[in-house]
Amino acid sequence: MNVDEQGCPSWCIEKHRDPEVISHEGVVHCVDLLGGGNDRQFLEIRTVQYLPIDTRESSSNAPSMVEIAYHFGSRYRVLNLTGASARELAHVLLANAEALDGNQPTCEVY
Ligand SMILES: [Zn+2]
Repeated sequence: MNVDEQGCPSWCIEKHRDPEVISHEGVVHCVDLLGGGNDRQFLEIRTVQYLPIDTRESSSNAPSMVEIAYHFGSRYRVLNLTGASARELAHVLLANAEALDGNQPTCEVY
């Protein structure tokens, strides 16, 4: 993973200067969902790395993940995906979106 002189991964938007940083965070992308009545439902997708609280542990052992937060009103749940899982999810979503629009999928679904 490429890091800058402050130790932030290239995707981190915070550009941390504090050595006590607890997480690196990428750009948040929001995707609205149908339903929910008066409560907006949406997904927040970003890249994150939560660093160990015990600084004796190496931050290199902290995995970077694709985090999906599902928001429904004031509640939310978080899913953490590995890079491979995120690519598989993107692949499956694209194939299903193409099918939804009546298009030939641009990729095969496993
Ligand atoms: Zn950072």
